[in-house]
Amino acid sequence: HPTMPGQTTLEFDNVAHKGSISVNNGLFIDGKWCDPVEPDMIDIFNPATGKKIAAVSLGSRKDVDIAVKAAQKAYKTSWGLKCPGTTRGKLLACLADLVERDADQFAALESINVGKPFHVAKAADLGASISCIRYFAGWSDKIQGNAIETNETKLAYTRHEPYGVVGQIIPWNAPLAMLSWKLAPALATGNCIVLKPSEMTPLSALKFADLVVEAGFPPGVVNIVNGYGTTVGQAISDHMDISKVAFTGSTLVGRKILEASARSNLKVVTLELGGKSPTVIFDDCNLDQTVKWATLAMYGNMGQSCVAGSRIFVQEGIYPQFMEKFTAMVKGLGQATGDPFAPATQHGPQVTKDQFDRIMGYIESGKADGATVHVGGDRHGTEGYFIQPTIFTDCTPDMKIVKEEIFGPVSAVMKFKTEEEVIEAANATTYGLSACVFSENVSRALRVAHVIESGSAFINSAQLIDPAIPFGGYKASGIGREHGEYALTTYTQVKAVHVNLGLNL
Ligand code: NAD
Repeated sequence: HPTMPGQTTLEFDNVAHKGSISVNNGLFIDGKWCDPVEPDMIDIFNPATGKKIAAVSLGSRKDVDIAVKAAQKAYKTSWGLKCPGTTRGKLLACLADLVERDADQFAALESINVGKPFHVAKAADLGASISCIRYFAGWSDKIQGNAIETNETKLAYTRHEPYGVVGQIIPWNAPLAMLSWKLAPALATGNCIVLKPSEMTPLSALKFADLVVEAGFPPGVVNIVNGYGTTVGQAISDHMDISKVAFTGSTLVGRKILEASARSNLKVVTLELGGKSPTVIFDDCNLDQTVKWATLAMYGNMGQSCVAGSRIFVQEGIYPQFMEKFTAMVKGLGQATGDPFAPATQHGPQVTKDQFDRIMGYIESGKADGATVHVGGDRHGTEGYFIQPTIFTDCTPDMKIVKEEIFGPVSAVMKFKTEEEVIEAANATTYGLSACVFSENVSRALRVAHVIESGSAFINSAQLIDPAIPFGGYKASGIGREHGEYALTTYTQVKAVHVNLGLNL
């Protein structure tokens, strides 16, 4: 093992960020940093260079057990109903302020560990994290049930009770935002947490843990155990004392989480999974705006977005004009590819060598299946994991690049004639996370948005996920909703209390 837990310091000396950032590379359990029971570490890389930047601890099932015990204790003594909603809200609001205070440092960590352009990380990822924590801070003192009177001798009321200890497992594509989406509603509703970041991108979660202490959360309310999915992730999903698990990641692993729940204590499972989202562009769209939104929908975060609009359906009347402008825009993105810390960079590397290889494999399969590489189709540069923003044309529904989630900067463009035809094509997928519809005809836009089978539908826009608005998947894209008031229902269980007002036997 290279080193044992302690401070890891990363030095930054570029236009976007100067100075050093220290994070603790241990496990965060019961409000303290600790070593794993069985010492183990993982190297962390910068995807723009492929070079190692840090090494952090890896936990195991034994560490999860310790974290669950700490969370149970905190739940009984200092959280749940032991802590008034107003106090939980105050702590969450303070946490949001602290993340905002350190936004530059967080953006630098997301940039160096995930490859996000720094300015995008700051605006998009930090924006999404801070607004989400602040939004749920406001719900903390508004969790309440209902009174139900069925007849004069009965009063019944419901209590929306926390689960107690919840497990949370998150992916690498937006580490801090995914952590915030999970953690904020769980804490607002009074649950204690054992959270596992992606073992490849844990740095922002480790820095976040220090802010949990600074904000003043009681020890054990938030526990962060870094580790592999097959060890720590598995231990969370089959733990007998975790009553609910919330997962964001691939559909493949989502199934394993459900299976683990079925085999263990039937814990409640919510899943935010993959997608193959359609972008539907009608002849009567506002072309210039549509091209910009469709580009953002597909290539934002280098295509590593669960809502990526990766199947682009263009009505035949506007196809040539759309392709001309879309091609120019995507080529421009290709030219703005490079160092994530350079202010002009719009497109960074893929997160890891594995992801790079996976995506290049999809590009090869597209070529082999007879699609045409219209733009890109190759790696960018010689170091790091950069892939050129890529457009495939001449795509057919049976191709792998049309059917499967690529999770990279690769779009499949298809032409259509009629509204009926495009609705059928858009719905011809096992996924149902999101959709974009572009048309200036309000009736058509609404009609199509309503019949596409997806948890979100964006009309004349894309990617504008908001903490006040529910988010989640239809079909194989997930179970349950994050964000908005809907998220509260996934972190509380309803108890009905029956009171006898005078019925005698
Ligand atoms: P992944 O499923 O490989 O991993 C997600 C997390 O699960 C990681 O922390 C991983 O360590 C853990 N894990 C792996 N195996 C596990 C197991 N057997 N038991 C428990 N945990 C396990 O996904 P990824 O590659 O990190 O992320 C990409 C995927 O996430 C894509 O499919 C993407 O669409 C999806 N995603 C969905 C959303 C959404 O909100 N719907 C958001 C972001 C990403």
